[in-house]
Amino acid sequence: MPKSTTCKFAGKIITVEDALKLKKDDRQGLACIKCGQYVSPHTGSAPGKQRRAAHFEHPKSGGGRNADCPLSDPARN
Ligand SMILES: [Zn+2]
Repeated sequence: MPKSTTCKFAGKIITVEDALKLKKDDRQGLACIKCGQYVSPHTGSAPGKQRRAAHFEHPKSGGGRNADCPLSDPARN
């Protein structure tokens, strides 16, 4: 499963680490490098969970995931 660790912001490519430093309001400007839809930054591992690197995800609510995007997570119903 490809995981996105970069996105577009204000016309530039930034990393998820950069995005996580943005204020919440500024994060509205984050866009997928593949499809241009909004993506939200996620921090990496949480205590007690399997370790994951920080990455971007298409949000599950508010427009839903973009099924056509190769960086979108598969449906987990
Ligand atoms: Zn996308």
